[in-house]
Amino acid sequence: MSKPIVAIVGRPNVGKSTLFNQIGKKRVSIVEDFPGVTRDRIYMDAEWLNHQFTMIDTGGIELEGQDSLLASMRIQAELAIEEADVIVFLTDGRAGITNTDDEIARILRNTRKPVILAVNKIDTPKQEMDVYEFYNLGLGDPTPIGASNALNLGDLLDRVVESFKDVEAIEEDPDEIHIAVIGRPNVGKSSLVNAMLGQDRVIVSNIPGTTRDAIDTHFTKDNIKYTLIDTAGMRRKARIDEPIERYSVIRSLRAVDRSDVVLMVISAPDGVTEQDKKIAGYAHESGKGCIIVVNKWDLIEKDSKTPLKFTDDIRDELGFLQYAPIIYISALTKQRIHRVPELVKYVAEQQNMRIKTSVLNELIRDALSVNPPPSHKGKPLKIYFMTQADVHPPKFIIFVNDPELMHFSYVRFIENKLRESFGFEGTPLRLIVKGRK
Ligand code: GDP
Ligand code: GDP
Repeated sequence: MSKPIVAIVGRPNVGKSTLFNQIGKKRVSIVEDFPGVTRDRIYMDAEWLNHQFTMIDTGGIELEGQDSLLASMRIQAELAIEEADVIVFLTDGRAGITNTDDEIARILRNTRKPVILAVNKIDTPKQEMDVYEFYNLGLGDPTPIGASNALNLGDLLDRVVESFKDVEAIEEDPDEIHIAVIGRPNVGKSSLVNAMLGQDRVIVSNIPGTTRDAIDTHFTKDNIKYTLIDTAGMRRKARIDEPIERYSVIRSLRAVDRSDVVLMVISAPDGVTEQDKKIAGYAHESGKGCIIVVNKWDLIEKDSKTPLKFTDDIRDELGFLQYAPIIYISALTKQRIHRVPELVKYVAEQQNMRIKTSVLNELIRDALSVNPPPSHKGKPLKIYFMTQADVHPPKFIIFVNDPELMHFSYVRFIENKLRESFGFEGTPLRLIVKGRK
């Protein structure tokens, strides 16, 4: 199930970032050096009553070349409509309705997506009278809130969560392997997608129906069903001139959320960028499978040491992705394109691998005898047993006498042993240490 996206839209100074920070839990500071983005907190994970969602603060997007407030508000609202499942339109109860609010409301009234109108800076019950005028915006009941003191945020979030019903009902087909193709503009994502789909024996289908299906491309190869997430735009060929295209980072994060395996595309001549690192970090933390696809390999002058040198550099830059296979391709000459779906299938299998407890315990016994854990604070660590609790990503629980005694480096050592013995190529692993008397 994919996390719904909630966009907060509103004029400058109505309190968007205050609200954002009150609701947000874990900030994904992924866009710091993304051109055109002024705030690094535009994308944030949040949770309310067991519903997880992601918030975007469209106000964090500076609209280059948009000199008027009105024009940039229009784009903000359109961006929210395009990217979000639910839109919170924030206004300022002290300032009342402004022309800009009217304009935003006009745009938001034209979407079928749920729009929740919130009136901020209502700090006392007495001020609630000020809220009635906001019915004039034609967006239903205004919810009064006081973002700085978290007043009434519960009511607002109840309404937000209530409107998820339709969004969350969309289940991904568990038989399909969902692929997110991620990477900076111009690295060759569209070319890769088209090259993969252009191959022999690939059956492409676009099942119209839900909005999500319309943006995904389904294909079957060697009897395996794949879904390329959010590729409609890529197949049509990048609409580079559209300002909204610039905010593709939000899209990328969402594609990662929905994916099983991420194809992290980098261009061989350019190498790994900061933006790549952040998105790869997000994929890693989200427990997704990952393959590093080095494209434009045809542009590199090669000798026998070239691949090794590239691999070393990439491993250096993306230290946390040691487990991700690297494939060198050219979308232009089609070199090794046919290997990409095979590799995706392989990584998806690795993510779903289950190891029996008896086998894991043998591994623990061996690990302990080769490298006994150092004792910590004078008390010896005892490892009782390890069991696999989950797949996708594989999750292991290690039961010990006292989790405090388990040093990080020893957990790392066990992770390495797991990989040496079973592979788990392309997938992050979760190791959890639990105490047991
Ligand atoms: P943004 O530009 O929409 O992100 O607005 P900010 O979150 O930066 O807030 C703008 C100003 O409004 C700041 O000075 C906030 O302290 C203030 N503000 C935000 N929420 C409230 C509120 O609930 N009550 C009052 N009185 N002021 C608020
Ligand atoms: P996207 O923005 O990531 O989707 O990148 P595109 O697929 O639009 O490619 C950007 C440019 O790189 C285009 O001019 C492509 O023709 C070119 N390109 C893509 N793949 C390769 C490749 O493997 N080798 C070479 N030489 N050029 C490529």
